[in-house]
Amino acid sequence: MKKRILFLSLFLLTFILSGCTEKRAEAQAQLAMQKEENLHEVTTFAMDTVMMFHIYHEDGEAILIEAEQEIRRLEALFSVTVSDSGISQLNENAGSLPVDISDDTHAVLTKALEFTKLTDGAFNMNISPIVQAWGFATDEGNRVPTDTEIEALMPLTVSNGLVLEDDTAYLQEVGMSVDLGGIAKGYTADRIVALLEDAGVTNGWISLGGNLYMLGTKTDGALWELAVQNPLDSTDYVGMISISDASVVTSGGYQRYFEEDGKTYHHIIDGATGYPAESGLLSVTIISENSTKADALSTALYVMGLEESLALWRVEQDFEAIFITEDGRVVATEGIAEQFVFEGSDNDFIYEVAEK
Ligand code: AMP
Ligand code: MG
Repeated sequence: MKKRILFLSLFLLTFILSGCTEKRAEAQAQLAMQKEENLHEVTTFAMDTVMMFHIYHEDGEAILIEAEQEIRRLEALFSVTVSDSGISQLNENAGSLPVDISDDTHAVLTKALEFTKLTDGAFNMNISPIVQAWGFATDEGNRVPTDTEIEALMPLTVSNGLVLEDDTAYLQEVGMSVDLGGIAKGYTADRIVALLEDAGVTNGWISLGGNLYMLGTKTDGALWELAVQNPLDSTDYVGMISISDASVVTSGGYQRYFEEDGKTYHHIIDGATGYPAESGLLSVTIISENSTKADALSTALYVMGLEESLALWRVEQDFEAIFITEDGRVVATEGIAEQFVFEGSDNDFIYEVAEK
């Protein structure tokens, strides 16, 4: 919990803007102070993770109650561990019946398929049977499956196993299942941001298990500042991002893993092998106005590795990225480089900027 707060690192620095008259600065400071008085914060547990809200609005308390209800509603649709969720129903009826789905389930499945196509299958929610075999996204505990087991499950993970219609979804074979763990928090963040904006919130941030969205700026007009964690040391960071109105999402093997016989196995599975992805990356941070995209791409690019990810970034709009590689490089795409201050040299990281 402490760590999460540290890595949000919302430093409340006060900047005196050059060019402002003293009066204007004073008025601005007063406005910022008024806004600060309307700060409302809530921490809750949902979707198997800690969620935090930090918003400025005079009706903030009521707005956050609504936001929490919306999260519970979406959790009840998307969860794979809640047995009567829409997604659990879809999984239970695999190979048997199409199930009715809600508009949100339709929207998130549509997005997931879109990102599967965009990443050439690196993002694959149909990887679920193998995720479960490794004991992730289930209550059964982690274990290393045998090669035979993985081979037997591979045919059930094809991404065209899902038939999506307007009001129904259907998994074509018994044993197929989908897992929205790689995209659900991003989708939920976008829904919550829409709710907050509709309610008139212009400044604040939300963190859905580290899946961040920064609304507007700080109350004094300064950009929000976030630390990018050093994947090798949970108390350390490799640099700071300054942003407004954007989502920042990090995926990395260090976030969820287990050890067996001296080997570490993490939760992001390479659909090509059925094993935890080994792409030479320690983490991928995506910066985008769209949190659904940031979430899906952080997972997918972690599977794809640096070169393939940069090739995708060069042709795709609307996102920037910071990669940390196993060989000690921190690589920022040029669109975020100006807003990123590298601070990893003390830990022997080397900094590079990738160009379009
Ligand atoms: P994230 O934390 O967003 O990177 O997502 C990781 C979660 O997504 C895992 O815990 C699994 O539930 C699921 N997942 C694992 N591998 C993949 C994959 N290749 N594509 C999509 N989702 C995945
Ligand atoms: Mg993700």
